[in-house]
Amino acid sequence: MNYRLHIQLLVSLCLVLVLTLTGCAQSSSSLARESTGSDKLQVVATTTIVADIVQQVGGQAVEVSSLIPAGADPHAFEPSPRDIAIVADAQAVFMSGGGLEAFMESTLRSAGGSARVIVLSEDLIAAENQTSEDHDLEGEADHLHAGDPHVWMDPNNVMDWVAAIETSLQELDPANAELYEANAAAYSQKLQELDAWIRQQVEQIPAENRKLVTDHQIFGAFASRYGFEQVGAVIPSISSSAEPTAQELAALEDAIRAQGVHAIFISSTVNQNLAQQVAHDTGIQLVTLYTDSLTGPEGPASSYLEFIRYNVSEIVNALK
Ligand SMILES: [Zn+2]
Repeated sequence: MNYRLHIQLLVSLCLVLVLTLTGCAQSSSSLARESTGSDKLQVVATTTIVADIVQQVGGQAVEVSSLIPAGADPHAFEPSPRDIAIVADAQAVFMSGGGLEAFMESTLRSAGGSARVIVLSEDLIAAENQTSEDHDLEGEADHLHAGDPHVWMDPNNVMDWVAAIETSLQELDPANAELYEANAAAYSQKLQELDAWIRQQVEQIPAENRKLVTDHQIFGAFASRYGFEQVGAVIPSISSSAEPTAQELAALEDAIRAQGVHAIFISSTVNQNLAQQVAHDTGIQLVTLYTDSLTGPEGPASSYLEFIRYNVSEIVNALK
């Protein structure tokens, strides 16, 4: 290691330590503003999906960075010391919540700052769990989406995010309140159009084919909104980090055959080996979707709107 790199490393380590120890929002935000030379609100989002929605509402007044890079799995993400320093510097931290970002509890503790933390899906997931409990007697189907944190698969839920982001940004930066209001209204309009487009697309799928098998449980919100049945998941969990037993895999293959399921939809962020095995055993196709992350700017799902359009088109093509 050369001398210069050594010094740089020492300096960054000290910075992390200082930020952790002082934990003072005022000093760390002014530090952030000084270091970027920007008077924009410095905001951190956990996933690329959250980052895109916050940017849509924040527009020119907000600088958003995503902690988890495009293509990485949020369930398995481990932050670096640099990520912790970014959180410590931020004026606000937006996360999806519901257990999706398991790393955030210790990250926020280590960062120590008093940045405002906004958990976008908290109320949505609590409401979903309540509905599931109320319908407890209806059986397994309801349990499949109890606690599913992938609420953004339904644009109606993202409209709730937009409202929460608008309110938070207005409180953090009242000078730009009108801008945030206008951006939120314009983007909500796009989400409404997206919802109408999905309904129209889904019409192309015969009712008996509206059955979803995925790599982990991601379609709770989407299935209940647009009338699909979640037949099962290769990893029968709302997290991609769990592992299925041989019996669970055999039961899934039986269900796929018995119900005439046409495809397995797999997330771009997870290992595909087990899903490939199930697809091979049952002779059905494997279709890759973007579920937990956007793509980079060159990919087919570089914004949330493109992400939903891509996924819905793939689902319709596989099931119609
Ligand atoms: Zn996931």
